[in-house]
Amino acid sequence: MSNFKIETKCIQSGYTPANGEPRVLPICQSTTYKYDSASHLGDLFDLKAPGHMYTRISNPTVDAVEKKIADLEGGTGAVLCSSGQAANLLAILNITSAGQNIVSMSSIYGGTINLFAVTLKRLGIEVRFVTPEMSDEEVASHIDENTRMFFGETIANPALVVFDIERYAKLAHAHGIPLVVDNTFATPVLCRPFEFGADIVVHSTTKYMDGHAQVVGGVVVDGGRFDWTAGGKYPELTEPDASYHGVVYTKDFGNENAYFTKLRVQLIRDFGTPLAPLPAYLLNIGLETLALRMERHCVNALKVAKFLEQNENVTWVNYPKLPGNSQFELAEKYLPLGACGVISFGVKGGREAAVKFMDSLRLAAIVVHVADARTSVLHPASTTHRQLTDEQLIDAGITPDLVRFSVGIENADDIIADLAEALDASQK
Ligand SMILES: *Cc1c(COP(=O)(O)O)cnc(C)c1O
Repeated sequence: MSNFKIETKCIQSGYTPANGEPRVLPICQSTTYKYDSASHLGDLFDLKAPGHMYTRISNPTVDAVEKKIADLEGGTGAVLCSSGQAANLLAILNITSAGQNIVSMSSIYGGTINLFAVTLKRLGIEVRFVTPEMSDEEVASHIDENTRMFFGETIANPALVVFDIERYAKLAHAHGIPLVVDNTFATPVLCRPFEFGADIVVHSTTKYMDGHAQVVGGVVVDGGRFDWTAGGKYPELTEPDASYHGVVYTKDFGNENAYFTKLRVQLIRDFGTPLAPLPAYLLNIGLETLALRMERHCVNALKVAKFLEQNENVTWVNYPKLPGNSQFELAEKYLPLGACGVISFGVKGGREAAVKFMDSLRLAAIVVHVADARTSVLHPASTTHRQLTDEQLIDAGITPDLVRFSVGIENADDIIADLAEALDASQK
């Protein structure tokens, strides 16, 4: 891990060209690697020698970007995956099997809820949901000897609930399990969960990390501090892996590298969900400006949130950095620089007025995506959740008037002018 500040790491970490080598991280567009002897390749297959075997498992371009992200988060290693969904799936499967369970905060990304409540259930893994309102004792009552981890999102998408990382890290550690944090919305520029006791960090790199809505990707980052050997709870890391001639990850790679090494050489190998070299190259270009972009997203979002608060056609505004917001105190602690560019608010007049508002926007684009350089907007009640009645929507935590607004890095005055005009039109 380098000692540079985060802005410098975004530019400099991961790739350092030697004398005469390309200044920019090259795309190694090769599935395979040439070796001079069969025995050298054999050592690679036994994980006795470092090096690349096959691009499903590792690749020099991907490797450089993984090293940059690990450095940004302050972790020991990272594994890029084909999507954020793949990252979350593998982060769990790496230490969880059928018959076991995990505990998760209930306000998390909808795609993750589907994965947890439907697909993992089919695989025999139970996910137990808890809420921030529950006392530590109530939360602890969901943890038993088969619980493998605790899961939450730094800034929950789309509820914008801020995760009290320190509180749940303490709770998880008291029960001998690691804390896994989805840090997608915050990015390591706004919050580094390892500094508050988290053990594993996951991201959908599709969002701010790429930042240009170009490539779908995900990453799992290992904090390297969780002791897998204590208590004999994690035999998949501390006992021989038959698929690698009896490698013991904690012994052969060190406790601090065991989790991410196993995830790569066993799960990426078997499930086949790597990030390819070209998307990794594009992601790296996005990462170079991450610190700059996040700064502007936060400044713009706070300006937009304050404007919305004052607008007569807006019934409520949710942005964690607004004084008076229920998440304000937690946001001050975990997100001192800002709470990213995502805001939600209600348009006066409910579902119908919200649709009029959406149709009247000129700059903000209607897209399913959030968290990139361009301002974008989504009205769940008329799109992603349109099949639900108003009552069903409210049960799902989404009011019919709710607009999810992802503030981009354009000039804030232009974004606000667009909003003002469309809010006016929504009432006509
Ligand atoms: C988008 C998102 C995901 C899923 O990532 P994909 O790259 O779309 O697969 C997971 N978690 C959070 C918080 C997200 O916003």
